Amino acid sequence: HQLSSMATFKTEYSPRVGDPLSSLDTPSMIVDLDLMESNISKLMNKLLPMGVKVRPHLKTTKSATLAKKLVAAGASGGCVAKLSEAEALTGAGFDDLLITCEIIGPTKVNRLMNLFQQNRNIRIVVDSEEGASAINEAMQAHDELRETQIPVLLDLDVGLHRTGVAPDKALALARHIASLPRLKLIGVQGYEGHLQHLHGYEERRRECLASMKILTTTAELLKKDGLVIEVVTTGGTGTAEFCATVPGVTEVQPGSFIFMDTDYRNAVGRFYGNSLTILATVLSTQGERQVTIDTGLKSLTTDSGLAECKDERYAYGCMGDEHGSLSWEEGSPELCVGDRVEMIPSHIDPTINLHDVYYAYRKGVVEEIWAVDSRGKVQ
Ligand code: PLP
Ligand code: MN
Repeated sequence: HQLSSMATFKTEYSPRVGDPLSSLDTPSMIVDLDLMESNISKLMNKLLPMGVKVRPHLKTTKSATLAKKLVAAGASGGCVAKLSEAEALTGAGFDDLLITCEIIGPTKVNRLMNLFQQNRNIRIVVDSEEGASAINEAMQAHDELRETQIPVLLDLDVGLHRTGVAPDKALALARHIASLPRLKLIGVQGYEGHLQHLHGYEERRRECLASMKILTTTAELLKKDGLVIEVVTTGGTGTAEFCATVPGVTEVQPGSFIFMDTDYRNAVGRFYGNSLTILATVLSTQGERQVTIDTGLKSLTTDSGLAECKDERYAYGCMGDEHGSLSWEEGSPELCVGDRVEMIPSHIDPTINLHDVYYAYRKGVVEEIWAVDSRGKVQ
């Protein structure tokens, strides 16, 4: 009754566990389970022994099922970027969530109150006194929440200049948060997103450690002031291994490692494998050494450059919303109408957000099917 039109046509196409990959229609988002599981255990084996908690960023997978798999492998909860992702994942059965973007405006604050009533396992970040006060007032205005406190991390700018309070304003903001009765200051978030894709291990490490210095000295300053700072959270796929070496960092938030993409592969190398691809079909032959496939902007994003064909002999070109080209040098086997290829996304998070379902396979057979639970949840 809320949407003015709803799909009513029922298709008979409904892939099932046990189906061969060859029976999937295209484009389809497919996951190599062996590679994905190896990415997860590589990350956990590397980071957990260093004494940090891993709270993977679920802006990548957008899936409660994958969040649970990560927890089973050693993760401590998950992160989401947006409030509406937290709603979707809570609804899908995963509730231990840090929302890493600021919650601003009465509509969203009310939505947070509603979510927090149903899920007390939510943590939020704030980077302004106005933002903190508005949430405190809303808590006080809700009968069910008047006696409780919402866990809050102070969001600190460690060089990304996206969100986060400037380090020299952090103490004043932290004191303000601590003074609000319905907010419980538990820690500091300082995400160094500008460093994730720096090419070159040494440069990335050096820059990361400089950002971590800002983060940990600020956290220390707050502690010396008598504030309780239990959580110091930061890091992504490109930097988590450096963050984890820094005394005072308690938690890291990598997301993309589980599937990777060409952008991350080019920056950080092949320690983690590209476990997610988009399966595509050759639709048309165009001349001697070029074909057209059924992936375009609507199935592979281009913000971080073009996707690549898993078979490196074929070069991809985007041909608009629905199409792409694959071309090859003389001597490579020709692609024919009906052939199927796998495309590696250039940027994994927004690509996943274009698809409804993951088909996870082993040895050519669909083993699990997962919903992209928080697809399109950008609010
Ligand atoms: N933490 C925050 C706040 C982020 O915004 C991101 C990604 O944008 C991440 C962590 C790490 O994600 P990834 O490992 O995909 O770079
Ligand atoms: Mn990303």
